[in-house]
Amino acid sequence: MTVDAPADPGLRTIAERESLLLAPYAMHSCDSRGRKLPEAEHPYRGPFQRDRDRILHSAAYRRLSGKMQVFTGDMGDYHRTRLTHTQEVASIARTLGRALRLNEDLIEALALLHDIGHPPYGHAGEETLDELLASEGGFSHNGYALTLVEELESRYAPPAGLNLTLEVLEGQAARADKSSPGGRLLEVQVVDLADSITYNAHDTDDAVALGLVELEELAEIPLVRETLDGVGVKYGSLRGERLRKAVVHDLIDRQTTDILRHAGLELAARQPASASAAVASGIRLAGSSELRQRTEELERFLYQHVYRHEDLMAVRRGAQERLRAIFAGYLRRPELLPRRFRQRAKKLGRPRAVAEYLAGMTDHYCDSRYRTLFAP
Ligand code: MG
Repeated sequence: MTVDAPADPGLRTIAERESLLLAPYAMHSCDSRGRKLPEAEHPYRGPFQRDRDRILHSAAYRRLSGKMQVFTGDMGDYHRTRLTHTQEVASIARTLGRALRLNEDLIEALALLHDIGHPPYGHAGEETLDELLASEGGFSHNGYALTLVEELESRYAPPAGLNLTLEVLEGQAARADKSSPGGRLLEVQVVDLADSITYNAHDTDDAVALGLVELEELAEIPLVRETLDGVGVKYGSLRGERLRKAVVHDLIDRQTTDILRHAGLELAARQPASASAAVASGIRLAGSSELRQRTEELERFLYQHVYRHEDLMAVRRGAQERLRAIFAGYLRRPELLPRRFRQRAKKLGRPRAVAEYLAGMTDHYCDSRYRTLFAP
């Protein structure tokens, strides 16, 4: 592309490119409803590419590297962080999206955004903040993601927030309110499906690598048993780390292939004529009910034997105690809050402002605030 190219060549190219590559039911960039604050189009990046970049360059996104997924830094350095989880979700979601001829830029933006609102200490942190804000409407990481990108993050240009497209904001809002009726863009659904595929596979991997469970125990679950059998047929007798990695690869591959087969048939049968027709029809992309049942068995196993493992429960209790102490500490001494959160306290009340400040912290920073300011 040259600097003195004719007006808007990029967007036309994007529209042409998408009309060639994407299915009619994909969310085409040229059909975006735009942003709350209208902006001129970029010469060579489409609206969802720009959203992806705004998210990628946000402080909240970078902080995902310091936030635990399931296992903490004290447990070693093999396992996923919230950031690497997010990258794996984006990768699997793009694989699904490309095969279904959906908008990969939108998918990537939604995937990078999907966990950006996670507070420190994983779900333990989220549950504690929710409990501390019980009388104020509670706390959810999905809702907080919207607060971040609409109010707390900022770009070079005013006003506050990243001014993302309505499609990305509504996609995240649908995550925040899963019970809300109505259809969702297929790109939004693909990211949700990729999230489950990703954590089922990598939590299995991490748990076995960390020695919290043995592959032999996991083999009680039909899905893992079948995966082990399939791996045996394909690769012969693998052991140890290679066997674990083959199982993880196969778990991802099976779930992805099953969703593509099932969702592909559904889309071929219904042939929505546009993204809005797909939303209006209420079509829900999913894998087969057999595989869904099998993955639910794996999820139940992970819940009982991994997420509730005594080593992790001890980590949870410690983290929750620190978070409660630091929350109470800032409530007592709001002068210790950064200025912008003191200002937010005037608008939202002190508990919500304190929770927002804490939710933005990495695990390590939260620990250090606790030690420096509030440790007994
Ligand atoms: Mg996730």
